[in-house]
Amino acid sequence: MTEPEATSTSPSQQTRGLRTGLDRDPAKQSVVPPIHMSTNYTFRGLDGRGEFDYSRSGNPTRALLAEALATLEGGADAVVTASGMAAVTLVVNTFVPAGGRVVAPHDCYGGSWRQLQWLADKGALSVDFVDLTDPEQARRALQSPASLVLLESPSNPLLRLTDIASVSAWAHEAGAVVAVDNTFCSPALQRPLELGADVVLHSTTKFINGHSDVVGGAVIAASAAHAEELAGWANCLGLTGGALDSYLTLRGLRTLDARVRVHWENTQQILDLLREHPAVTAVHHPSLPTHPGHALARRQQPGGFGSLLSFELAGGIDAVRRFCDGLQLLLLAESLGGIESLVCHPASMTHASMPPHVQQAAGITQGLLRMSVGIEGGDDLVADVRAALDRAAQ
Ligand SMILES: *Cc1c(COP(=O)(O)O)cnc(C)c1O
Repeated sequence: MTEPEATSTSPSQQTRGLRTGLDRDPAKQSVVPPIHMSTNYTFRGLDGRGEFDYSRSGNPTRALLAEALATLEGGADAVVTASGMAAVTLVVNTFVPAGGRVVAPHDCYGGSWRQLQWLADKGALSVDFVDLTDPEQARRALQSPASLVLLESPSNPLLRLTDIASVSAWAHEAGAVVAVDNTFCSPALQRPLELGADVVLHSTTKFINGHSDVVGGAVIAASAAHAEELAGWANCLGLTGGALDSYLTLRGLRTLDARVRVHWENTQQILDLLREHPAVTAVHHPSLPTHPGHALARRQQPGGFGSLLSFELAGGIDAVRRFCDGLQLLLLAESLGGIESLVCHPASMTHASMPPHVQQAAGITQGLLRMSVGIEGGDDLVADVRAALDRAAQ
């Protein structure tokens, strides 16, 4: 990273992160950095290797996105990957030796669950899926040695909170590297490295890019040594992200904080509606004082409670159908964190591969819907959701 360290008079971490690479082009003095699509770079003679040689190993556009993410998360450096799942692959390959033990949340992202389970099935590693939101269970699981502990907070789709600082401390006692999947919060809300995690990973597909038009990922490391190890493995395994994707993601990232503020304004309006509407029997969001993770979220997410929520409709699957058919503005789709508001039905969409009894244990009922609140006009969203709820209640 070439940015100077922040002092009391220099711009904040947030401002430096969002402005990464601006006005740094000596050739043309462009305000926005150019995109470098070249796969390769010339040597000025046999001893004249420049900063870059081949774009899988290193690319100037990808390096700027990595720098921005490292600044925002407060890490030493970052590796930009081709997807969020490539980021998970990178973390597992870097930190888990053959036969090593991984501890992961029982309700972690489905793709992460599948990757760890498939690797365990073929004998590459062992994995324990644990309810890490429960301190007792987390502590017990971390009384035996582990290579890697993967955390996700808040969880999907019920927004359960895990105490990142406590679990990280227990994981370190167990000899593990702690990786936090910070996709749901983004560094605008939560910075796990400040809570004791060793690395943060992202599906930049979600809030970081924010425009639902790039699939990408990243791993940010607190220490330079971990960052170097990750960069080596990313190059070795061929997991690094492309230049155009990096360019677009850096462009999206520049509005992260502004987007997150509007996401939150709209989320509050939607929560007010859901809490008073008779078609709704339960609302799950960490901002609600009734939410079991409310106090922890206040401490752990200094940037706010986030714009993902879930709620339960009284009439089960039939009410869900009427609700979804009644929506005009919100889209029925998987994914999250884009400018557009989305609804998804976890039982039949994101969590469909879970057997019914596993869904039940995770609290995923037929009447449950998850919403990613976008940045459209708040009143328009409320009108759309109100009309669909009225239909659901019929
Ligand atoms: C989407 C997502 C991933 C996977 O990211 P891709 O970019 O789809 O590969 C991992 N973790 C979480 C929490 C996600 O939401």
